[in-house]
Amino acid sequence: MTDTQGLEAVALTKTYGEGPTATHALAGVDLRIAPGESVAIMGPSGSGKTTLLHVLAGILPATAGTVMWRGRSIADMSDADRTTLRRSEFGFVFQSGQPARAACRGERGPAAHARRNRRRRGDGPGPAVAQPPRSARDGDAPPRASFSGGQAQRVAIARALVGNPGVIFADEPTGALDQATGWEVMNSLTTACRAQGASLVLVTHDVDVAHWCSRTVQMRDGLIVGEARQAAPAQEVAR
Ligand code: ADP
Repeated sequence: MTDTQGLEAVALTKTYGEGPTATHALAGVDLRIAPGESVAIMGPSGSGKTTLLHVLAGILPATAGTVMWRGRSIADMSDADRTTLRRSEFGFVFQSGQPARAACRGERGPAAHARRNRRRRGDGPGPAVAQPPRSARDGDAPPRASFSGGQAQRVAIARALVGNPGVIFADEPTGALDQATGWEVMNSLTTACRAQGASLVLVTHDVDVAHWCSRTVQMRDGLIVGEARQAAPAQEVAR
């Protein structure tokens, strides 16, 4: 691998199921994310965006190919090392409301998210998934009723950034928010990532959300079919 600092996927494939009913969710993805870079993953529903995010984050194992983080293959790590990596070097922000409810129940955001996905898709129990650091989990969570969608996401962003992770993974972080609140959340998220030097990998359907990132990749049928760089991401335009 050439970039030993960032996150790099090479020839990544992910197949769910077997035989005639198999779904090839990732069909050979190459993607390199430099330290501090923000990348929006876009594409139609079913194109493989969430699968790519989960494989990059070590939540789901790839069927073939490699994901390297700072020069280490995630697949070659022990389960314990992978869990430590997700706790200490990766942060997670999911769709509005989920982390807040998880915080109120004392559940773990990414774990709850992965469980929900597995329930929805009838998948097996899957691998152990990421947990935020204990200090973040055990913080005083306000009562559920006091969270608005925007507040919930600001809490989720703060939790995701505890411990100064190198990458934040965000899956539709503004998906349940109105436009103005989504703008605020993207402003908080990208400002915080920049301040900490963290990369951002974000799945979104919304082109206005993607404009907050320095690069957009387009997925279709499990492949990256296009890519665009933005010289002036939204936060700089907005100032
Ligand atoms: P997107 O995020 O772009 O909507 P996904 O990554 O969720 O795409 O899904 C890509 C493809 O993989 C879809 O055809 C979806 O139905 C399928 N898929 C995703 N997760 C599972 C799973 N756990 N079991 C079987 N098929 C799945």
